[in-house]
Amino acid sequence: MISYQIVEHGQPLQKKLSETPKPQGTEVLMRITRSGVCHSDLHIWEGYFDLGGGKRFYVKERGCIPPFTPGHEPFGVVEAVGRKVKGVKVGQKRLIYPWIGCGKCAVCKAGQDNYCVSGSRFLGVNRAGAYASHVLVPDPKYLIDTAGIDDSFASTLACSAVTVYSAINKLPKLGPKDAVAILGCGGLGLIAISVLRAKGVKNIIGCDIDDAKLAAALKQGAKSVVNTRAPDAAQKLAGVAAAVDLVGAPATAALGIGALRKGGRYVICGLFGGELVHPLPPIAQRAISIQGSYVGNVQELKEVVALAKKKKIKPSPIETRPAEQANAALEDLKNGRVLGRIVLDFEAVNA
Ligand SMILES: [Zn+2]
Ligand SMILES: [Zn+2]
Repeated sequence: MISYQIVEHGQPLQKKLSETPKPQGTEVLMRITRSGVCHSDLHIWEGYFDLGGGKRFYVKERGCIPPFTPGHEPFGVVEAVGRKVKGVKVGQKRLIYPWIGCGKCAVCKAGQDNYCVSGSRFLGVNRAGAYASHVLVPDPKYLIDTAGIDDSFASTLACSAVTVYSAINKLPKLGPKDAVAILGCGGLGLIAISVLRAKGVKNIIGCDIDDAKLAAALKQGAKSVVNTRAPDAAQKLAGVAAAVDLVGAPATAALGIGALRKGGRYVICGLFGGELVHPLPPIAQRAISIQGSYVGNVQELKEVVALAKKKKIKPSPIETRPAEQANAALEDLKNGRVLGRIVLDFEAVNA
């Protein structure tokens, strides 16, 4: 098999040839045809997340040690199955759920692999990922049929869309007039607006520093928009029932938490970086909650796929590039030259 590996953080990925694994027991060998390039691949490539105040979280502390193959938006074709595999056949196209847990702890058994407490096996995060011609999946329960959805778009559902969907699942019960602020109206923000609309939420406020993104948010169905660089942005947002922070920077956190009405909830899933300093008494006095959200579970990804099949989630612009351009894709993403998403095409990669 061929994989594109991080050999040294921040340096170009290297193409490596290795033996293709043979599936045992319940394992399924997938031949990758599409692999989405996610913004968090940049953190994995660079080797750390910014914790603010000069502090960093190094990805090597969670098992991402070079040589390492990134890629957590995997889509492919079943190439071989272990003897105990039921429910999938060689040749079937499937989306691969990447947030795989140990499969044994109580949290995994309850279907919450993404919160596994004893040895998660997240593809492309702490296990070799999908910038590769092949990926070994431990069980067919992690494979999802996306028939009717474009393959490249389907791959991006595995991280960006399920992350947004799971964050929205954590919102408090909303009344018909309750407002929800979406902080960051890039690709994730637009998905958030379509998911909220699909759930019947109407009072959606799109927030960004970029007027072009705000125009896109209105087109997607936001009721109003706020340019967060405006001096009166905080007043305009004041009183929202919930804020979903898809950026995760000190400025968006301050704005989102500050805008909540009493009993409101701030949900953060953006990983831009930095730290939160907030006075404690108002958290109690205003009875607000601060909720983190990380990717999503298998059931949530299935629900996202169902919404995409019904065209309730619209793809942001997707550019499919040959796998050989993995390095250029990361560079372009780092330099802000990507509108929408890049998906690598591994169809022509034979190994
Ligand atoms: Zn991702
Ligand atoms: Zn587990």
